Order: sequence, then C-alpha cells, then structure tokens
Amino acid sequence: MAPSRSVKIAVVGCGLMGSALARAFSAAGHDVAVWNRTPGKAKAVGSGTVAMENLVEAVSGRELVVVSLSNYAASFEVFSAKGVAPALAGTTLVQLTSGSPADARSGLEWAKAHGVDYLDAAILAYPGFVATDYATVFYAGSRPVFDRHLETLQAIARNSVYVDEKIGSAATLDCAILEAYYGGSLAFLHAAAMCKAEGLDPKTFFSQKNSFLGLISVTADAAQGMIENNDFSGDQCSLNTHVAAIEHIVRLSKDARLSARFPKELLDNYKRALSAGLGEKELPAVFQTLTQE
Ligand code: NAP
Repeated sequence: MAPSRSVKIAVVGCGLMGSALARAFSAAGHDVAVWNRTPGKAKAVGSGTVAMENLVEAVSGRELVVVSLSNYAASFEVFSAKGVAPALAGTTLVQLTSGSPADARSGLEWAKAHGVDYLDAAILAYPGFVATDYATVFYAGSRPVFDRHLETLQAIARNSVYVDEKIGSAATLDCAILEAYYGGSLAFLHAAAMCKAEGLDPKTFFSQKNSFLGLISVTADAAQGMIENNDFSGDQCSLNTHVAAIEHIVRLSKDARLSARFPKELLDNYKRALSAGLGEKELPAVFQTLTQE
C-alpha cells in the first residue's frame, strides 16, 4: 500500500542492512538518499535511491535520517565530520545501528546537544527479511516522535514496536533476545555435535526440535511468573535433578572427545544455585544467583 505521503529520508550506511532498509523505504514510495563511506556501495543500492558522495548534502533537508553502521563509534565518527551536525538539526535521527543501552544514552545526549530528535532502534531480522512480516524493529525514546514517524517506519517492518521512553530500552530488549538466540543456537549446535560424535545422525536430533523448543517455551512462561512473585518453589523438577542431567551431558562430551567447555559453563551456573541453597527449587531459581559475581 502506498504511504499517505512521500517522506524525504536519508539512509547513512549501505552495508548489508542499510542497503535493505534503503530499498524498502524506496519501494514504499519515499524519496531516499543514500550515503556510504565507500561510495561504490551507495551507488549499488539502486531501486530508485539517490547515491550521494557528500554526507552533509545527503542529510540536508531530510525529515528522517536512518543510520545503519557497524557500531556507535563509527556513527559518532561520521556525525562529527564538519557540517554534519548543523545539517541534521530539525531532522529525526533513527539510530538502527546495534549497540548497548549505554551507546543509546550517549546517542541521545549527542542528539539533544545538536537539536536533533532521536529514536534509538534495534532491528531483529536478517536483511532478506526487511519489509516482510518476519521483521521486527524495537524503538525507544520520545513517544510523540515515534508516533509521528510510525507510518513511514513501517516500510521496513510492519511490526514496529515502541518499547519505552527510556532510551536504552530497545537496545536492552535486543540484547536480551539476542542472548537467548545465541545461547540457544550454541546449545543446539553442541547438541548436534554430541549426536554426531555418538554416531547418531544430527537429522534425528533436529527432527525433534519441537521437544526442546516446547520445553524452553514452557520454562520461559514459568520463569516469568516465578520472577514476578519471587517464588521459585514448585513440584515439577528440582534443581538437584537438573544438575544431575547436565552432569551426563558433560560426561558424554568428554567421553566423545568433544569440547566440554559449554556444558561445563552451564553446570557451573546451575551448581552455583545449589551452593546458594536452591537445590530443592525449580529451574528458574538460577535467576536469583545471576546478579552475583
Ligand atoms: P556491514 O554490511 O558490515 O556494513 C557496515 C557498514 O558500516 C558499512 O556501510 C560500512 O562502511 C560502515 N562503517 C563501518 N565503520 C565505519 C566508519 N568508521 N565510518 C563510516 N562507515 C563505517 O554490516 P550490516 O550487516 O549492514 O550491519 C549494520 C548494522 O545492522 C550493525 O549494527 C548490525 O549489528 C545491525 N544488524 C545487522 C543484521 C544483519 O543480519 N546483517 C541484523 C540486525 C542488525 P564501508 O562500506 O565503507 O565499510
């Protein structure tokens, strides 16, 4: 569906993600200027976008400036170039570079000092999924600024979620989801390696993925309630029993001459909860020991 009006947008950074964002805005009918440190990548974006070699010209007169660079340090370097900050005054900067909550706070500080409206954002999608129903973008910052640009921002993800006014909240949620993703991915890759080392085709393991995904889902739901009520008691499975199961995984890994580093790290974390006297509690009780070093 065409947007109710064509918005002048600049996309700063034409790496894999920035290029996908720029194409999505352009496909939605917006007027998109693109800039990249290495100009060839800006030219390669195509799809009706206009490649600019001069950053000041690229961002001047734009209503929205969307940034997608490797990190915030690159972003600060780019925006401290001569003439860039004054050219941004009066625009809305949407920082889509991934970072930490502290990065987001320093981004807001910079934006405030230069009269720029600022939303800190985090995209949860591979570039190939931008503008599809599988893309989610989290936003933090001023609600009125978010509401003003929501329709335009939906060109990159219909699922554009306002998290909180606290500027670090989108980065916090992104880091939390990514930790679950990377940790979970490492766990299932190690699990597949265990199967292979024991002569069981990893295909058999992957064909049962719904069993561990279902267990994680049930445990996440239980953990949410237990954390809320600060009550980790239950009658399903004690931490003592879970720790015994993890010990089997460590033993299998060692016997099969696989790296046991990951399951040992798991075991250390779960055992710490036993040392804290939580052995008879349910699994989410580990949460109580994670704030301690
Ligand atoms: P990428 O393809 O490596 O692109 C990095 C971009 O940053 C390039 O435009 C690069 O410019 C630019 N850059 C790096 N250092 C710079 C500097 N000092 N000055 C100016 N420009 C600089 O990375 P990407 O995959 O597009 O990722 C971009 C952001 O999106 C990251 O924050 C990433 O975490 C986030 N993200 C990516 C994905 C994904 O699946 N790819 C998913 C979610 C979030 P040059 O071309 O000149 O090197």
